Amino acid sequence: MPDYVDTCIFCKIAAGEIDTEFVAQSENVVAFNDIQAQAPVHVLVIPKVHVDSVHQLGTDHEGIWQEMLDVAQDVANSTGVAESGYRLVTNAGPDSGQEVPHLHVHVLGGKKLGGIA
Ligand code: 5GP
Ligand code: ZN
Repeated sequence: MPDYVDTCIFCKIAAGEIDTEFVAQSENVVAFNDIQAQAPVHVLVIPKVHVDSVHQLGTDHEGIWQEMLDVAQDVANSTGVAESGYRLVTNAGPDSGQEVPHLHVHVLGGKKLGGIA
């Protein structure tokens, strides 16, 4: 089993090895601002445990997806976009454009968003 925290940027962020402000967190999930925001609100919600993408989520990760959703809803509330609307995006694999191979959900909002593909 690879020691992902040595190589994975999001494992390092989750482990507190890279100074990053968490805008929300729960037992197994943290959320932080995207370094290259594509919208006024652009937050990434990630599990602390390494999972490559949503496609690798399985029975080993019971409850993680729901916990990520709970944190995403917290972020939407705390950033003020719950009423104006927001989008959750998760990329999986090359055609999706996934750049960081550690599961994350983008919370995007604060402006009228464009098309999805
Ligand atoms: P993906 O294309 O994999 O779905 O999205 C990865 C996102 O992670 C991109 O929006 C990118 O700007 C963001 N990102 C990449 N490296 C870092 C980093 O070191 N810190 C933060 N806060 N965001 C990052
Ligand atoms: Zn990782």
